[in-house]
Amino acid sequence: MKRQQYERPLIQRINSGIMNKFGTKTEYAPVTHIDDFSVKELIKQYGSPVFVISEKTMRDTYKEANRAFKTRYPKVQFAWSYKTNYINAVCNVFHQEGSWAEVVSGFEYKKALQNGMPGNKIIFNGPDKTDEDLISAINNNSPIHIDHLDELYRLTELADEMKKKPNVAIRVNMDTGIYPMWDRFGFNYENGQAWDAINKIILGDKLELVGLHTHIGTFMLSPSAYAIAANKLADLALGVKKKFGRTIQYIDMGGGFASKNTLKGSYLPGSDTSPDFNQFAEAICTALLNAGFVEKDLPLLVLETGRAMIDDAGYLLGSVIANKRLSDGRRATIMDFGVNILFTAFWYSHKISPAQDFSTYTEDTVLYGPLCMNIDVVRDQITLPPLKKDDHVVVHTVGAYNMTQWMQFISMRPAVVMLGLDGKSHLIRKRETIENIEANEVMPEYLLKFKI
Ligand SMILES: *Cc1c(COP(=O)(O)O)cnc(C)c1O
Repeated sequence: MKRQQYERPLIQRINSGIMNKFGTKTEYAPVTHIDDFSVKELIKQYGSPVFVISEKTMRDTYKEANRAFKTRYPKVQFAWSYKTNYINAVCNVFHQEGSWAEVVSGFEYKKALQNGMPGNKIIFNGPDKTDEDLISAINNNSPIHIDHLDELYRLTELADEMKKKPNVAIRVNMDTGIYPMWDRFGFNYENGQAWDAINKIILGDKLELVGLHTHIGTFMLSPSAYAIAANKLADLALGVKKKFGRTIQYIDMGGGFASKNTLKGSYLPGSDTSPDFNQFAEAICTALLNAGFVEKDLPLLVLETGRAMIDDAGYLLGSVIANKRLSDGRRATIMDFGVNILFTAFWYSHKISPAQDFSTYTEDTVLYGPLCMNIDVVRDQITLPPLKKDDHVVVHTVGAYNMTQWMQFISMRPAVVMLGLDGKSHLIRKRETIENIEANEVMPEYLLKFKI
């Protein structure tokens, strides 16, 4: 028989908190393996903490999303949102699956080119495109999504100078019943700004209006908002046809679908409340199919889904540094990863599972990160079995916006590993070193001339 683990006895005042219908039991079984890879072995090989990405989950999720739209609409194209996770191995898996690239800066644009994306398959969004970026996008024949009039005028000038007619779309913002409205990007639908931009582009005759774009928000829980947005873009496209006799080639609905994560303060877990791809697809495709396009003018539907495509595939493996009691008696556990690398801890209650067997006893615990900063809280309340120093945990659903928004702060950023479909684990981003960080520092000569 296996020896039972010893746990120190504890006498504790009972805090009568708010119970919900699920009770206080931990919902978790230990997670010792991810896609048949041992968590302990991964940590031994790559260090702790370490991000891991499941190639299988990425591809499965892509196929699920693609199927949801392709079964409902004849012309569908996904474009991978680089800022969601732009580690090249991640981008390349999506590109292999057939995804174009969607970028929001010159840096991301260069990354997409270096990943081998042909220019006409790189959608260039964002409010900040330099002359250099615009010239490069014009030369590579990339669809440029115009955010504001200053960009429209500058692009018109450049097109004239270069004697080329760039392919453009406008970003449109609109009231979809979701507030606060994301009206800082693009041209407004309701107040006529969008039509003004369309008229300027078509009558100006220096730019080729090929598409209409919107991105209504992120972590959207309401498919009906997408139906409203699709209707408004379709209305503009049909208006262009009627007024100018021109066909809009694509309607780009942006990203924003919620992932299965649980928002802080939410009563039910995200796995129960987030709509799935079918629900978003049904809302968008139905709206477009019924908008009144004649068959040959039916626009290509472009989707820039980021979060919902990669979140599930990412895990953060970490270890316990220490346990302590707070002044009010609560248990506190200090982990070796903090909010500097797990940025999404600010708005999600991440699911966290122990990576080894545990007893049936559980306790309300605060999970802290290792930073010497009061805000470094990974979970302010989580029911967990007691974890010992050097025990491991698995943080779930961290694939989106952590490996791009992470900060080099106090410590180095960890390695990122892909769990390959070839049955091997692959290092896809090395753990940072002090040399990496100091490579960009410059010491003024005169500061070196002193004695301690
Ligand atoms: C960030 C972004 C996306 C991806 O959004 P998700 O919420 O991650 O799906 C798509 N399009 C644009 C323009 C974006 O800025």
